[in-house]
Amino acid sequence: MFNRHYVFFLLLPKFSVLRVFKFGGASVKDADAVRNVASIIEQHDGQLAVVVSAMGKTTNAMELIVDALFNRKQEVFEELVAEREAFHKAILKQLFEENDPIYEEIEELFSELREKYEERLPENYDFEYDQVVSYGELISTKIISAYLNKSDVSSMWMDARELIRTDRNYREADVDWKRTEELFKERFIPGFQTARVLVTQGFIGHTPEGFTTTLGREGSDFTGGIIAYSCGAESLTIWKDVPGMLNADPKYFDNTIKLDRISFREAIELAYYGASVIHPKTVQPLQNRAIPLYVNSFLDPSKEGTVIQTDTTSDHLIPSFIFKMDQVLVSITPKDFSFIVEKNLSDIFERMAGVKAKINIMQNSALNFSVLLDQKKINLQALIDSFSNDYHVKYNEGLELITIRHYDQETIDRVTENKQVLLEQKTRDTVRIVVKDIA
Ligand code: ASP
Ligand code: MG
Repeated sequence: MFNRHYVFFLLLPKFSVLRVFKFGGASVKDADAVRNVASIIEQHDGQLAVVVSAMGKTTNAMELIVDALFNRKQEVFEELVAEREAFHKAILKQLFEENDPIYEEIEELFSELREKYEERLPENYDFEYDQVVSYGELISTKIISAYLNKSDVSSMWMDARELIRTDRNYREADVDWKRTEELFKERFIPGFQTARVLVTQGFIGHTPEGFTTTLGREGSDFTGGIIAYSCGAESLTIWKDVPGMLNADPKYFDNTIKLDRISFREAIELAYYGASVIHPKTVQPLQNRAIPLYVNSFLDPSKEGTVIQTDTTSDHLIPSFIFKMDQVLVSITPKDFSFIVEKNLSDIFERMAGVKAKINIMQNSALNFSVLLDQKKINLQALIDSFSNDYHVKYNEGLELITIRHYDQETIDRVTENKQVLLEQKTRDTVRIVVKDIA
């Protein structure tokens, strides 16, 4: 016989795993790319939370729009907005019939964007940046969601500005994890009763007052991690234009090898040393809840990519190489010949922090302290000036930093061929070598 509990059980939505897919700007750069994304989504059943970045190079274009708005260059502002609107309309034309309601929705977003110019006199650049640049993602997600519905994938557009709660640190906002999780439970998950696929924006969030924030450039991967964490998803998949995580950047290296399986710890280490495949903040929330991260290719979606998960046993199998170009080695010696001891060290670090130096490597001897810095990120003259009263400063430019995880002598020999080694540091898993080309 049916009892009340049994009937209640029948009324529960069918259990289904929830997965998160993230598509970056390159995967939605034109109409064909959008069709490809839709076909990937169609081929995966179950509930999907889909995170999408701005189309192609739109975020760079939006940054110029903010500049024009902030510097009150109205003509430039109008021109740049018109250019972005034309870019998106050309894509719409290839995807939708002339009378589709999506045209009006996109026009509406562009007129909101135009109104930003008059809304108030801008005072805080970072605040304006977030209010404006976020339109790239609002527009792309409207287009993707509408296109999915047209392709018979039931989908719903969700506003990340009502889901991801952050502090007020515009352009680099920090997530309020507890509130965000609540908001996803209250406002996002119930959406699956209406649609199989929920589409939302990467990169953006909101303050307690409801102003838009952004999570830092390339932050959409991180959004994928935030959503997977907040929904307790089964997995996150980041779809990229590479076959997975490679053991080196193909720009600097022939014969790269795909890493089939690595641990969260290894992924964080690689990102820390400068591997640029996934945004470093992405991994931490996934690790906290042991949610696996797949890195797959949207160009070859049926091929297995890389899985990043808890188990560390495969980490040592393949050496990974990370190259950082344009490095400068700065050597600092106290003028009074005092040894480099704690007192000097704290003084040195304070002066370094004063010029916002981000140190890639450091090493000291009795009288000398050396740091390696990204030349493009440091004002070298300001650094020299801040030390010159009490220290002699020497520097060596045009260097390269090579990091090898899980190295052996053969890999070291291979990368240092025809190079002069200026500094080398080894731990059990990692060797870091500062080199200069032999002219
Ligand atoms: N659209 C943003 C950017 O280009 C965020 C992202 O793509 O991850 O930085
Ligand atoms: Mg991007």
